[in-house]
Amino acid sequence: MAHISKSAFVRGIQCTKQLYYYKNNYNQRDALTESQRVSFKRGADVGILAQQLFLGGKDLTPASPWQYKQSANITRHYLQQGDITLYEASFLYDSLYAIMDIVVSTDGSLSLYEVKNTRSVKEQHLLDAAFQYYVINQAGYTINNISIVYPTQNLEDYNGDIPLADLFVMEDITNIVIERQSDIEKSSQYQVDMLSAPAPPVIKIGNQCFKPYACDFMKICWGNSTLENINAIILDDEDKRAVLLGKQILPA
Ligand code: SF4
Repeated sequence: MAHISKSAFVRGIQCTKQLYYYKNNYNQRDALTESQRVSFKRGADVGILAQQLFLGGKDLTPASPWQYKQSANITRHYLQQGDITLYEASFLYDSLYAIMDIVVSTDGSLSLYEVKNTRSVKEQHLLDAAFQYYVINQAGYTINNISIVYPTQNLEDYNGDIPLADLFVMEDITNIVIERQSDIEKSSQYQVDMLSAPAPPVIKIGNQCFKPYACDFMKICWGNSTLENINAIILDDEDKRAVLLGKQILPA
């Protein structure tokens, strides 16, 4: 059974064919570009710094990203001990899997915090958080609230001059996320069904390949397109051209 994590779910909303490749053709993904590498590193740095807003937590980062059940059982074990703060806690509901950046359990009710290296909450962050909320709620936990945590400035410019509490914003998105729960249920079920098909869905290349993130499988889909076809899709969009150059789909 293929498991769907939050990043897989968001990929599937962008393009179901991308999700199919992500689960079945993972080794054929495009090489990371330098800007992606930098972005992932910065994201990880922000996550670690944000943990200091909730001192004394237990780090439950899974030993392997594929030990879904074992990791979820470890989280359940700690949450049964009483009030506790957890970092990178895992949750499993059927084939849906969530790892939450920070979880604070108080009197049996959870406060969830998803850390993003952004300056404002964007649609893809809400989608991602709504999926996390759905999985954790369906796994049987009581959720008090869910927030996106993000820094107010670039961390490269941060030298410890202001307290961490002032460096980060915690934006409560509980009501928005609750409103989306039935959509998440329908979409995740559709994705589970789609993944059991013997072949990927037929989807042509287009603008969806760039938003909200550049797809990791553009070489498969765009690699055999003619220059004429590519130019007809990207028109004069320099950002899209830069993505295709970075992936060496367009010649330098
Ligand atoms: S390149 Fe485009 S069409 Fe192909 S899987 Fe990615 S998003 Fe879908």
